[in-house]
Amino acid sequence: MTHVFRRQIGHEPPVASHGDGVFIVAKDGRRYLDASGGAAVSCLGHSDQSVIAAIRDQLDSIPFAHTGFFTTDAAEKLCTRLAEAAPGDLNRVYLLSGGSEATEAALKLARQYYLEKGEPDRAHFIARHQSYHGNTVGALSIGGNMARRAPYQPILKDWSHVSPCFAYRGQHVGESDEAYTDRLADELDREIERIGSGRVAGFLAEPVVGASLGAAPAVAGYFKKIRAVLDRHGVLMILDEVMCGMGRVGTLYACEQEGVVPDILTCAKGLGAGYQPIGAMIVSEALYQTIAEGSGAFQHGHTYMGHPAAAACALAVNRRLVDDGLVAGVHAKGAYLENRLTERLGNSPHIGDIRGRGLFLGIELVKDRETKSPFDPKSKLNARIREEALRRDMICYPGGGTVDGTAGDHVLLAPPYIISEVEMDEIAGRLGDAIEAAIEAVGGAAS
Ligand code: PLP
Repeated sequence: MTHVFRRQIGHEPPVASHGDGVFIVAKDGRRYLDASGGAAVSCLGHSDQSVIAAIRDQLDSIPFAHTGFFTTDAAEKLCTRLAEAAPGDLNRVYLLSGGSEATEAALKLARQYYLEKGEPDRAHFIARHQSYHGNTVGALSIGGNMARRAPYQPILKDWSHVSPCFAYRGQHVGESDEAYTDRLADELDREIERIGSGRVAGFLAEPVVGASLGAAPAVAGYFKKIRAVLDRHGVLMILDEVMCGMGRVGTLYACEQEGVVPDILTCAKGLGAGYQPIGAMIVSEALYQTIAEGSGAFQHGHTYMGHPAAAACALAVNRRLVDDGLVAGVHAKGAYLENRLTERLGNSPHIGDIRGRGLFLGIELVKDRETKSPFDPKSKLNARIREEALRRDMICYPGGGTVDGTAGDHVLLAPPYIISEVEMDEIAGRLGDAIEAAIEAVGGAAS
């Protein structure tokens, strides 16, 4: 009997023993090839000695000093690096312990900003269907993933959700990118008008949608049009880069590729690469100054925010990502992996789409390629793929509800940036076999 309250009660996972590059080695000796960095976390693999040494050094000097009383060199240096690399006037970094905390902080900061600006009616938020921004109550409220929301609906806020920018399913046949992005910007505009222009505080979106859509990048020009709508109504743009940030899509910040600068940006996951729990909210100078010149304090805080070991970890991770050129290598590696996946799976009648950006790739599975109809959700195809991949000693991140929150299956890949070509060949081979076995089990044609 275990005393651990597991994610899946009754499921006995293998015991992780140690890390070896892109592999997690279990106590029984099995070596799991980590093709998804867990859930897009482990961007440096599992045995980076410079990060481990930085954490050790920090613990040797000062393990914890409450941010109500102290700062640390690690936190100062980390925030300087993050701010200096951030686009536009994103300039102030609020350190947290994970992605959901960063979402909560962003919602509350947006609210406080408008209170201090003398616009107290702005208390409504808009996000997109099929989005995930975290599991805490505020983050679930703003998220658009219906399956995750359903049991908690009565305790969630009723905010708005508009369509995501999801070309594979949202763009009509024959519709140009221009017309599609116009249509989405109009939809947001109408929703803001419906709520009341002076009542909306913020709009929240992932630049590249991860867990709920399977690495769906926006169509070119989308975020610029969204920014224009938001500016017209004085609504803040909050970009969630918890999954797609910190180099995952080939630039340190994902929004660099969209040509927009948000008012608030959140990140986590790759920020600490899994060596420590850490997240961050990065805020524009203008927003920060409004608080500084107003009440003088963001009315928020957590015991472990700015934790020295987590800050030292993220600083060492950032040096590896930027100074050692790992982010710079992401585009080429991503293209290599995408090609291998297309070679292995592209002709399968059940692969609807292979998409993504950098080392953030998604494969969407369909029952029928022509109609894009999904498999019956009851067949739990995505869960079967997960099991088949594990049987082949590989970790990937399949998800469901890709079409409408209930139907649809995809597999998300987000391997460490240190991955080699041989290891990417392995991913394509093992994933191809796992997908075929799972499809056969639910009655589809293997190839
Ligand atoms: N935002 C996005 C886009 C995410 O993918 C996640 C987690 O998967 C979160 C927020 C929540 O992060 P955390 O699990 O660290 O609380």
